[in-house]
Amino acid sequence: MKKACNININGLVQGVGFRPFVYLLAQKHHLKGWVSNRNDCVNIRVSGDKSEIEGFIEDLKTKKPGVATISQLSVKEEPYENYKSFEIVSSESISDEITEISPDLAVCDDCLADMINQDHRRNYPFVNCTYCGPRFSIIKSLPYDRPNTTMDEFKMCSLCENEYSDVHDRRFHAQPVACNNCGPHYKFYKNGKVFTNDQRIVQQAANIINKNGIVAIKGIGGYFMACDAHNAKVVQRLRSSKKRYGKPFAVMFRDLEAIKLHAELDYSEEELLKSIKRPIVLLKLKKHFTEGVADGLKSIGAMLPYMPFHYLLFEKVNTDALVLTSGNFFEEPIIIDDVIARERLPEICDAVVSYNRKIHNRVDDSVIMVVNHEVHLIRRSRGFAPEPISTHIDLEGILATGAELVNCFAIGKKDKAILSQHIGDLKNFETYNFYQESYGRFKELFRFQPTLIACDMHPDYLSSRFTDNFDVPVIKVQHHHAHLASCMVENEYFGKAIGVCLDGTGYGTDGNIWGGEFLVGDLCSFERYFHFEYVPICGGDKAAYSPWRSGLSYLHYHGLDYDHAPKRWESLKHQDIRLVLNSLEKNINCPLSSSAGRLFDAVAALTGICYKATYHAEAPMRMESKIIKHCDDSYRFEIFDEEISFENSITDLMADLKEGITVGTVVTKFHNTIVDVILSVSRMLRDETGISTVALSGGTFQNRYILEKAWQALKDDRFIVLTQRKVPSNDGGIALGQIAIAATKRKELCV
Ligand code: ZN
Ligand code: ZN
Ligand code: FE
Repeated sequence: MKKACNININGLVQGVGFRPFVYLLAQKHHLKGWVSNRNDCVNIRVSGDKSEIEGFIEDLKTKKPGVATISQLSVKEEPYENYKSFEIVSSESISDEITEISPDLAVCDDCLADMINQDHRRNYPFVNCTYCGPRFSIIKSLPYDRPNTTMDEFKMCSLCENEYSDVHDRRFHAQPVACNNCGPHYKFYKNGKVFTNDQRIVQQAANIINKNGIVAIKGIGGYFMACDAHNAKVVQRLRSSKKRYGKPFAVMFRDLEAIKLHAELDYSEEELLKSIKRPIVLLKLKKHFTEGVADGLKSIGAMLPYMPFHYLLFEKVNTDALVLTSGNFFEEPIIIDDVIARERLPEICDAVVSYNRKIHNRVDDSVIMVVNHEVHLIRRSRGFAPEPISTHIDLEGILATGAELVNCFAIGKKDKAILSQHIGDLKNFETYNFYQESYGRFKELFRFQPTLIACDMHPDYLSSRFTDNFDVPVIKVQHHHAHLASCMVENEYFGKAIGVCLDGTGYGTDGNIWGGEFLVGDLCSFERYFHFEYVPICGGDKAAYSPWRSGLSYLHYHGLDYDHAPKRWESLKHQDIRLVLNSLEKNINCPLSSSAGRLFDAVAALTGICYKATYHAEAPMRMESKIIKHCDDSYRFEIFDEEISFENSITDLMADLKEGITVGTVVTKFHNTIVDVILSVSRMLRDETGISTVALSGGTFQNRYILEKAWQALKDDRFIVLTQRKVPSNDGGIALGQIAIAATKRKELCV
């Protein structure tokens, strides 16, 4: 029996070899008709035998190419039509609905082989195919076709053209297809001299690295700086010229074997490192790595090559590990502009390696840690953005402007939240420009017009003030409610949950600084049941870079003597300490804070581990790396009304230090105390409310020890535990919570 069908497919189906796959399937099933990329879906029309059509649809679902994902497949019967053949017809743009855009993908093995075997691609550093290469970073508008990307400036040669139009070729409709004859090429800049010739450039870059120099290299989504990771001197030079005195550097290793020499990794970490997303994965170091790379921490951010240039470079350098750090200046976003790169990067680098294809969307490397074999994103960017997150809530037309420090915004299309790439700290002027530019690009690319905006309650966040640019209703969302909602919605949990939201700072409904919060709530509202004690912190949020201020604030608040602690703070002037004590005594500029971050800072300072911080969350990170094995002891804490008091913890901790108990033991006991608090308070809340689902969110859960232990302790006590895997648990995930809360309030009219 003959019939005809119209099939619409949504998901990640463009730029991943989906149309040739459909074409070949249609051939296999002897079907006629067409397939077309539309801005909102892949649209297929087939006519032929009924049973063949059924087989075709089954194959569509089960045999799809590597990275493609199908989120929706709808089939509608149509009047039979006698088409002559099956064709791939040109793309159509018919409405404001959009299909998914593929993130950037690491170069595949077949393409690496083509660099050896294909004449026109011998050593060609921009080789790519239907299954790999740049995507999001080069796309300007939908549908995903070459003229809508920054490849529009390159005219295909006849060889490439043939591959592009041959349905049996690996490069059939690969939009960035290119070769030595027709595609982009590298350019090398050093001391006013410029030259082209990709092979010579790779050799020159390698020479500089081999002679302990630093090279700036244009990557997929921005410029990077590279040097030999095994040479402490050049690493030190990179640090001082970049003015980045703390914070570990990420390292690109030649291959897995090289990583295994230096770090421990399990199966899931290995898979992640090799995956086509190719992120930076945080691994435990086996032994001490080069001075200055890991910056004294016991972990390292490792990654594998993901661009052809990286592979070519590793063939020529005498090292198996390169520091590969973002090409930016203090807190600014990664540089993408070629002119700016040539002007500014020579301040730090001995040469600049650029290429003549533009980066349209800036994407930095993504950073991930694996806990209990699950992915936990720290920074969501290359390889992930702009993959949408399905929520099963109508988010259409909602813009969530995100937080401030680790900003990322989100827009709603149907039930999907499309999160921007990691933006950064909006207080930085250049970063705020990037934020505005990126919103503009999302607006255009995804055909988005906001009808409702969600922002943080903090009146001074630039992301909150950004809402002034719009004439649509604004919903202000409390920071920790957004953390809770973010965790719930990515787990597709829509009931009421206990929210354990621990982080550095968030504006509370009472105007105080929150951050050690135990909430009970859903996507519409929340109630704050318990919180870490309110402590007047000298300097408030500004104390984040001076953990010693938090240390003194805690001692002062609990009436403990300060004599012991400052002994560990050699470089501090007595005068500065006096000044802080003075303002604590007179309560000047000491806002109340229940922040978990400041408590961690206080302990890091009191133990002498870190009393001055050079980067965000340095103190807790350093403390985590001091944790010892086989120590289950913890400190006492108390709960008065709704406040969790750490008076006894701090008192006992100071006594331990006085007695000469090791710092490792003290910080381990402190971490165990936090886990105890999480478990006890969750139990109290379960008893009181009957709710046994706990959502863990906030930057504190980037602490591997706390996350693992709290998760295990809650599981063992029969709690259902929700954690964040699709978006970061830090403020980079806030926008997802904001957008879900705004959508729920809109629906339930509980505004
Ligand atoms: Zn490929
Ligand atoms: Zn070509
Ligand atoms: Fe937060």
